[in-house]
Amino acid sequence: MTLASTEPRPRHPSLYRLAADGHSLDFHYARCNRCQRLAFPANSPGCPHCGSAMDDAERVTQPGGGTLLEYVTVHVALAPDMAVPAIAGDIRLADGIVEQGVIGVSDEAGLRPGMAVKAVAVFQQDGQSYHCAFVPAQEAIR
Ligand SMILES: [Zn+2]
Repeated sequence: MTLASTEPRPRHPSLYRLAADGHSLDFHYARCNRCQRLAFPANSPGCPHCGSAMDDAERVTQPGGGTLLEYVTVHVALAPDMAVPAIAGDIRLADGIVEQGVIGVSDEAGLRPGMAVKAVAVFQQDGQSYHCAFVPAQEAIR
């Protein structure tokens, strides 16, 4: 494998980056100085748990993923370049943090509420950038 001269860029660099395995994503969090809980995105103006200012919060990067809470197949694109139909889900990333994300499977048959999911990179056809999708954690282990 040869390395490209230019690294593919994350579509949302403030949210995630490519992990060392070249496939998984690491998410950027901030840890509240007062309550020690994680906030996402890391540039939140205030702690979503206790409301404390996050100006000098510690930045934490850890593997992206969480618990799939619920999901639905959507037939209208939620973003300009989103291919449909697609499955959108609510994922609990950490205690008290729920984000909506695209589930990177073709149908709901293999999904169930409460299953562990992990964030992976979906590369654009030109290989220049990638965005985030969530896949069942077991499936991602090869
Ligand atoms: Zn807090």
